[in-house]
Amino acid sequence: MTDPTDILRTTFGFSGFRGVQHSVVERVLAGERTLAVMPTGAGKSLCYQLPAVAMAGTCVVVSPLIALMHDQLRAAEAVGIRAATLTSVDDNRAETVARFRAGELDLLYVAPERASSGHFRDLLGQAKLALFAIDEAHCVSEWGHDFRPDYRLLRPLLDAFPDVPRLALTATADAHTRADILDQLGIPRDGLIVAGFDRPNIRYAISPRSNTTKQLSDIIAENPGPGIVYAQTRAQTEKLAEALARTGRPTRAYHAGLDPAVRARNQADFVASEDMVICATVAFGMGIDKPDVRFVAHAGTPKSIEAYYQETGRAGRDGDPAVAHLFWGADDFARARQRIGEVEPARQAGERARLTALGALVETAGCRRAILLRHFGEDPPESCGNCDNCLHPPKAVDASVTAQKFLSAVFRTGQMFGVGYVESVLLGKSSERSLMNGHEKLSVWGIVEEDEAALIKPVSRALLLRDALRTNPHGGLEFGPAARPILKGEATVELVLPPRRERRRRGGANS
Ligand code: ADP
Ligand code: ZN
Repeated sequence: MTDPTDILRTTFGFSGFRGVQHSVVERVLAGERTLAVMPTGAGKSLCYQLPAVAMAGTCVVVSPLIALMHDQLRAAEAVGIRAATLTSVDDNRAETVARFRAGELDLLYVAPERASSGHFRDLLGQAKLALFAIDEAHCVSEWGHDFRPDYRLLRPLLDAFPDVPRLALTATADAHTRADILDQLGIPRDGLIVAGFDRPNIRYAISPRSNTTKQLSDIIAENPGPGIVYAQTRAQTEKLAEALARTGRPTRAYHAGLDPAVRARNQADFVASEDMVICATVAFGMGIDKPDVRFVAHAGTPKSIEAYYQETGRAGRDGDPAVAHLFWGADDFARARQRIGEVEPARQAGERARLTALGALVETAGCRRAILLRHFGEDPPESCGNCDNCLHPPKAVDASVTAQKFLSAVFRTGQMFGVGYVESVLLGKSSERSLMNGHEKLSVWGIVEEDEAALIKPVSRALLLRDALRTNPHGGLEFGPAARPILKGEATVELVLPPRRERRRRGGANS
């Protein structure tokens, strides 16, 4: 067998391995079962492509998305690797099967549903296999954020060829998911290799959403380079692209519902540009190679820490300073919680844990990076010096009493009014509505003092985030399961106040 470093140089044209690539490749070449957890861009493909070239026989790659497979195929063929895809959209399937049987393929890409068929298993028995590579391996776990039942059917196939080494790869796996992948795919604990997840040049910042367009315009003004704004809906990408054009920067929208020609053009324009802002759904960014993205802003909360890491990871691939700013709303969490109620019961615990982890990230007064890296199983320093909380330490206050007042007001007014109305009751602000409802006679009328008033909105957000409050379809607030413990004083509500507001309040008191 040729020396792997030679193949790295001659076939791939790289001068050396990056990060954990070397250890992964060594394990694979030694025939050992391995799970490689490496962030996007770390070079996962090479970990199976190089062994595929080095070893006799074919490397079978299981990959969940046909579009991704075809990208990979093109990239592999470009460096002279003998590769093929075997999917429903390939009309050269007979030829591919013949090439495989003749031992003329280094790489054979298949989707999991095909891989698990008996027919395919028979086919694999007809030629020499070098390796099984299972890409996006988190899909095998119900704990993962992207469970695909077809992945569960891979195990019998792998076990039918016990001597063929297996390499599972993923960019996104928390500790729980990782353990599950090892179990599901029959990989020993010591087969886990985790790459460093830190992206030190990315500055993380997270704030509550107030005026989205204004907040995003500020980010754009502070960051003259190209940027991505992730919106939550297709309609929002278009609205934001229009609104943000007023900053004077070129903007484009990108989502799966656009005419393919327009979408391709917008993407190409963005890749070529040095100052464009693209407003996109999360579909944007997969497989896009633009190293100089200077900021990624989220107009809404991503669906998990993994998704957040992956999406923000598209900033600063060139290693120069970049910014990731997330604007979250309590309603994002309420909606996510509602969606969890609709998924199959077996997956709800995992989804809920993911949401709780995300809540901890947005609410922390501590280092954002530390939370991210701990989530990926690392042991980072307490403080990174390059996130909002490290740069401008916020103040944590115990807002339990204000939270109790808020909950009481929601309860006394019949669990049917929105935040604004409940606030006016707490502040004792008379209106025709409050008179008509007779709410001015309530014990909670006007019980919040002037200096406490600024806490009301953040408290309402915190209560929604914790599922102490829920929003009914008409925007009215009602109790969620976490309300009672707070009312009874069994649970506290800590608030993190952004330093800017602190300053303003202090300034106000002095003048
Ligand atoms: P992943 O799948 O982990 O997101 P890829 O396999 O697509 O990452 O690789 C990301 C980029 O890094 C590709 O452009 C690839 O050619 C490049 N790359 C991978 N390994 C190396 C290496 N050892 N040296 C230099 N570039 C590399
Ligand atoms: Zn930090």
